[in-house]
Amino acid sequence: MEQKLRQEAKALLEQGKVDWIIGFEPGSLKFTTTPLITKDKNDADRLVINPFIVNNLADFLPEIKGRVGIVAKGCDSRSIVSLIQDNKVVREDVVILAVPCPGIIDLSKVERLVGKDRDELDDVTREGDKVIIKVNGKKKEFPVTEVLFDHCLACELPTPQEYDILLGEPRPPAPNLEVSGKDIENLKGLTPEQRWEFWGNELSRCIRCYACRNVCPACYCQRCFVEETEPQWVMPVPRWQDNLLFQIVRNIHVAGRCTDCGECERVCPVNIPLRSLTREMYDMVDELFHFKAGMDKEALPLMTHYEQEEAEDFFR
Ligand code: SF4
Ligand code: SF4
Ligand code: SF4
Repeated sequence: MEQKLRQEAKALLEQGKVDWIIGFEPGSLKFTTTPLITKDKNDADRLVINPFIVNNLADFLPEIKGRVGIVAKGCDSRSIVSLIQDNKVVREDVVILAVPCPGIIDLSKVERLVGKDRDELDDVTREGDKVIIKVNGKKKEFPVTEVLFDHCLACELPTPQEYDILLGEPRPPAPNLEVSGKDIENLKGLTPEQRWEFWGNELSRCIRCYACRNVCPACYCQRCFVEETEPQWVMPVPRWQDNLLFQIVRNIHVAGRCTDCGECERVCPVNIPLRSLTREMYDMVDELFHFKAGMDKEALPLMTHYEQEEAEDFFR
């Protein structure tokens, strides 16, 4: 898959079919990758596909001028479709290099599983449904489901539906909602008072770095409501109450555009379980409006149309 990607990316640049390629290259730390954005065909050989290609690269698309070849996993392709529906990206300006995605490994889960820091791990590889972790020269084997990101366990579209070049054999979806939604179900089991306390505690750690907003392809406003001063919706000091308001409003703003790509939770430097909010909103949108972002490019964006029968369900 990696070789095919490199060949295709080089050819696209050489033939002038795109101005830019956006993909992944190895990161500076072990078991990491980092986005590669290049115009140079010789950089194509730096492109990688491995179990650590975490970023949703669709986030870069609205900012890049020119035609772009972009590496996309299933969830990334849904974000691209959503951006096209919102007129933020022109379909003809994008060449989607589709990665049939077997799921991305969450290194925090690996660390917890073997009780070691990622720097102490010799190797982490995937073999089919197993993950092989080498520590101190010894191999340990676990079911891959124990180390995939929660949102990957819930994945409904591992292979992009919308693409120009398919880089491998399509993979069928096999979502395990019970496992991926465990934390959310636990939260639902609490009383409203306990949940209030839970989120108060979690959001008191928020340093308002806005990483969750900045990595989100659905958060593309030039000026976010948190930066408004007239009126000032949230105070600049990260008090938990303002942090909560930020997350509530952000969730409402991305409703119908969030693809459950998991990026906001992944990048949070203080490990706030943001997916418990975003996935719950995703499920509510599905339940109330029968809408899943980026699944159908012919569908009208959720917030731009209204159906008569929605009224009774919605205003309850
Ligand atoms: S949500 Fe699906 S497509 Fe996205 S990274 Fe996880 S398994 Fe891959
Ligand atoms: S990434 Fe985490 S710490 Fe930063 S603003 Fe978002 S919730 Fe707060
Ligand atoms: S809100 Fe989070 S999970 Fe949803 S699209 Fe944005 S980054 Fe992805």
